Amino acid sequence: MLKTHTCGELRLTHDGQSVKLAGWVNRVRAQGGVIFIDLRDRWGITQTVVDVQSAPEAHAAAEKVGREDVLQIEGTVRARPAGMTNPNLATGEIEVEVRQLRVLNAAKTPPFDVSSDGKVDEALRLKYRYLDLRRHRLQRNLILRGKITKAIRDYLYERDFVEIETPILFKTTPEGARDYLVPSRVHPGKFYALPQSPQQLKQLLMVAGFERYFQIARCFRDEDQRGDRQPEFTQLDLEMSFVEREDVLNLIEGLMIHLVQVAAPITGCQLVTQPFPRLTLQEAMLKYGTDKPDLRYGLEIVDITDLAAQTGFRVFAENAAAGNPTRALRIPNCGHYSRKQLDELTEIAKSAGGKGLAYIALESGDSGQVKSPIGKFLSVEQMSALIERMGAQPGDLILIASDTHATVCAVLDTLRQEFAARLGLADPKKIAFCWIVDFPLFEWNADEQRWDPSHHLFTAPMPEDIPLLDSDPSRVRGQQYDLACNGYEVAGGSIRIHDRALQEKIFGLIGLDVEDAKQRFGHMLEAFEYGTPPHGGIAPGIDRLVMLLAGEPNIREVIAFPKSQQAADLMAGAPSEADPHQLAELHIRVVTAPEER
Ligand code: ASP
Repeated sequence: MLKTHTCGELRLTHDGQSVKLAGWVNRVRAQGGVIFIDLRDRWGITQTVVDVQSAPEAHAAAEKVGREDVLQIEGTVRARPAGMTNPNLATGEIEVEVRQLRVLNAAKTPPFDVSSDGKVDEALRLKYRYLDLRRHRLQRNLILRGKITKAIRDYLYERDFVEIETPILFKTTPEGARDYLVPSRVHPGKFYALPQSPQQLKQLLMVAGFERYFQIARCFRDEDQRGDRQPEFTQLDLEMSFVEREDVLNLIEGLMIHLVQVAAPITGCQLVTQPFPRLTLQEAMLKYGTDKPDLRYGLEIVDITDLAAQTGFRVFAENAAAGNPTRALRIPNCGHYSRKQLDELTEIAKSAGGKGLAYIALESGDSGQVKSPIGKFLSVEQMSALIERMGAQPGDLILIASDTHATVCAVLDTLRQEFAARLGLADPKKIAFCWIVDFPLFEWNADEQRWDPSHHLFTAPMPEDIPLLDSDPSRVRGQQYDLACNGYEVAGGSIRIHDRALQEKIFGLIGLDVEDAKQRFGHMLEAFEYGTPPHGGIAPGIDRLVMLLAGEPNIREVIAFPKSQQAADLMAGAPSEADPHQLAELHIRVVTAPEER
């Protein structure tokens, strides 16, 4: 080894020892005849000192050293002089007096400062990702990620799960996104699809009798990018036989608690919901306006449809008559908002699909005064009933949305998140999980005039709702569950269909004809005829989980080589054009539309 110790290892107990260190130059400072070089590796930083008197050759070499050069030094550990210790550094009580210095590799001046986590343009960070990855924040995140992955494996191996790999080159596995296709050279005109998840294969592993399977699986979904999405991402894919919903939820709840315990010493994160609250989808929508509520804070939505309907405000009355709700949020201590600030909130409501936003601002103190454009449509009694329903205090602001259920939810969800940010309520160190259950099995796709599965094709209906498949599919509940955390969906799963006839019926309802279904999923239907255990599973997204445990705002911060928002690798330049020869072999001709040229 070119080093005897890491740059994070030496302490006073090593005083007097001769050591070799190797790493990157974090910082250089010259002071009189002495040059201080802070040497960095992934374990830490050690101050080394090159004195012109005792090591003239090393000193001459040190004079030429620059940031990010890779050095090897040999020297002796010594206690730092009194008053010169650095309490912020684990190695801050010692320094290494250098005898010999070797430049193993010189570095060009990096395009940004690697020694700090200061803000750098993201495109530049992605282009020089190997330098970005040297920085403390990403080193910490990726080391955390490795520990989380190991903790997942340990937890599941202890519970007798088998880790099994499934193919990347496969057939379409619909999870609601577009497939990435890979052309076959050997089979002209045919394509593999990269798995959107290993869903079908894990179910087939249950047919095969493994009973408890998991995989740290890469999944590929071609969909529009957002902070919590990447074209390829990693999930803990898991499936169990002879289980009921409760078994899966308990296993995963225990795992999540364990993962927070593993992350806590590294990131200071803290679990604030235990046991995990369970909400039906309907409760979640009514209280939080979303199926992935952030429970780190309250700001719960309150239904005021009945009170609003009695007022003289036309919008409320019309919505009530049409069966639409009126719901409101109480924002503490924002009653002083100016006209301009309130107009801004209306714009936010509009960006979420609302037509407008009504408000009631309560003056602080005990004047009992309110400021509200809809005030004139409410009697004194109606106003006080509304204020009482909201639990509003002097100084509070009440924001009211009246529209279809979906729009009211979207508007109030957006405003709830907006105020959590403004009022500093969403502490990134807090981790608040909750389960969402009782989803409808289908969603109506008005464009295509058919039912779409709200989870995926293989989710089982609640047994008592099976008769409704014929009479009223909209009322069939699925045996599915989502795990939400801090406003993100971090896992989704279900108890599956394990019966060919039922599976075929679901295919029919979502508009897959028999031939199509056979062609795409014939292998599953056939397998179901050879003794299929009842089974179910789930798939927590590892990128999102690590992002939340690390307190990061997007998953690119916890992925070594992520794609940009435009699904491009800015470092290697992918995607890129293919060689004509390669295309010919793959039987592919590229036709570029005129507007893309
Ligand atoms: N395959 C599902 C998904 O990737 C998860 C599951 O149902 O287990 O979302």
